Amino acid sequence: PRSGFCSSNSTFYSKRTPFPLPSNRSLDITTFISSYPHHGKTAFIDATTGRHLSFPELWRQVDSVSACLSDLGIRKGNVVLIIAPNSIFFPIICLSVMHLGAIITTSNPINTAREIAFQMADSKPVLVFTTGQVVPKLARSSLPIVLLDDEQVTAEATTQVRIVGTIDEMIKKDPTDRIQVRDRVYQDDAASLLYSSGTTGASKGVISTHRNLMALMQFFPYLTFPEDGEQTYICTVPMFHIYGFGAFAIGKLTTGSKVVILSKFDMNELLSAIDKYRVTCLPLVPPILLKLVKEADRIRKQYNLSSLQSIVCGGAPLSKDLISRFLDKFPTVEIRQGYALTESTGFGASVHRAEECRKYGSVGLLSPNLEAKIVDPETGTALNVNQRGELWLRAPSVMKGYLNNAEATAATMDSEGWLKTGDVCYIDDDGYLYVVDRLKEIIKYKGFQVPPAELEALLLSHPQISDAAVVPFPDEEAGQCPMAYVVRKSGSNISETEIMDFVGKQVAAYKRIRKVTFVTSIPKNPSGKILRRVLMELAISRI
Ligand code: AMP
Repeated sequence: PRSGFCSSNSTFYSKRTPFPLPSNRSLDITTFISSYPHHGKTAFIDATTGRHLSFPELWRQVDSVSACLSDLGIRKGNVVLIIAPNSIFFPIICLSVMHLGAIITTSNPINTAREIAFQMADSKPVLVFTTGQVVPKLARSSLPIVLLDDEQVTAEATTQVRIVGTIDEMIKKDPTDRIQVRDRVYQDDAASLLYSSGTTGASKGVISTHRNLMALMQFFPYLTFPEDGEQTYICTVPMFHIYGFGAFAIGKLTTGSKVVILSKFDMNELLSAIDKYRVTCLPLVPPILLKLVKEADRIRKQYNLSSLQSIVCGGAPLSKDLISRFLDKFPTVEIRQGYALTESTGFGASVHRAEECRKYGSVGLLSPNLEAKIVDPETGTALNVNQRGELWLRAPSVMKGYLNNAEATAATMDSEGWLKTGDVCYIDDDGYLYVVDRLKEIIKYKGFQVPPAELEALLLSHPQISDAAVVPFPDEEAGQCPMAYVVRKSGSNISETEIMDFVGKQVAAYKRIRKVTFVTSIPKNPSGKILRRVLMELAISRI
């Protein structure tokens, strides 16, 4: 059977109807998406500038930017970095880069120079798209830069970097100037390189192929139901993360839906844009849902949100309590949870239909073409319905592996292609997935990944710290906050504030350590692995 639970090998198959993937080996994701033309419709609206982009105009601009990139020498296999907030240019750049068989890598624009340098050293980009505000952080790089805005770049920064053009010039290139050189691109070639720390260690480049992305893109039309009417989405989740990248920068192009783009999250801008553009679906992360609940009375007075049919919530756990508090305040809006990982190229489980929303707390049914196992982490035995264990996934969207890290790839994916998610889950009798805990190290602060290993390495670089461990600490607003257990060197009386400042100067704001506890030793197992559970339980017991 291809649906429900198959007991012969303890594998759960998606209950959703499978669909075939394209069979021609030579096909890039951009050509694939453009085969869904949606003539005359609007693809994107930039809420910040008011700019509209129709589907035909989008494809014309993608052709122009691809031609410019080819002129700049971008070839198959080259990595191109975009460090920028959401904008109408984001999808154009990603589609143009991938069309040439080059690989798009993304970075959070609030990352520090140190964090950006780490990603550059790992992914070795040959070109950077970024904004004037980010340019000073690239001061020591000799890479060519294309600017996405006309924000003044300081004279000093201009002398230190190599600006080769602007996106405005690129999109205006005469479309009759065709792409000069374009290598043959295969479905199994790398297309995107988004960063994730996975189950352990520092951030790693997740290689997703054109086929991985096709599996995701082909799924979205399947999610579109005529009875829901034409959908208008608003994208405030970041496009540099798989959520915004997979689902909105390129994802909705196969459905013909409209995507209103917000450069970043701002509650009032978000609500004005929902009101102005009659948005029907708002995707977000749990902390924003909490804010909507807390400010519900003001919001309902100030804005007309009658167009809003559903909220999609993913990226981090959402409590049943928060769902019911939300539904009390906004009874006409459905909450549809979704669950995915960067490593599964945005594929996992989701709720699509009104009747599926009734399984409160569930992240929905497994996506089509996806198989799952629930594995006992101690014994490695595959478990049955309603039993809790680590979720393993196998699907055409599962990444090729981590860049430059065969060891981490082998630890995350087995020889049969199963991806070990590091999440503790169960699947009920009806095939619905529930996420109940996390085995892996990552801390999710407002949906952003914080790798403890990176913060621990920074703490250990401090001359007054002899050992350290970073674990999540529960927080109503952020979901989790990074907290540090620190062993001071003998004679040191370094303070909590000094430690937080030391780390805070070197990392983006969402990675900041927000609590420090001094201890005499860090609990470890005989092979030296930090006993994180012990520390997490200790932290909670002291609340
Ligand atoms: P990322 O690769 O940044 O998307 O992070 C993926 C991880 O986020 C998953 O492995 C989960 O730990 C967590 N996550 C994503 N969606 C959910 C959800 N709906 N409920 C609970 N955890 C989630």
